[in-house]
Amino acid sequence: MHELSIAMQIVEILEEEAKKHDAKTVSAVHLAIGTLSGVEPDALKFAMEEAVRESVAEKAELHYHIIEAVAVCENCCNEFKTDDYFKVCPYCNSLNTSFLKGKELKISSLDIVTNHS
Ligand SMILES: [Zn+2]
Repeated sequence: MHELSIAMQIVEILEEEAKKHDAKTVSAVHLAIGTLSGVEPDALKFAMEEAVRESVAEKAELHYHIIEAVAVCENCCNEFKTDDYFKVCPYCNSLNTSFLKGKELKISSLDIVTNHS
């Protein structure tokens, strides 16, 4: 399953971050999932539950934020929402458009518990 390997990579990053900050646990994780990231949010949720087991994030609250894809037209400079890779500007019908966001899958923030607190 594609999502499971992604989830395991995310947990790896969490482990690294925790180590960097001399932390024992990660208490909350916020993930941003673009609608064009190719990741199925429900599948990722399921995979994350598996991946965090026996990791620093085992007890972390997991939050998921869906990022709607937005493209910008290079021709008329208008921005528009899109859910398709074949994006035509709805204002001027130009094909000269590019994505601003929506392809990303990232950790937008995380809360860690340090040994000092
Ligand atoms: Zn346009």
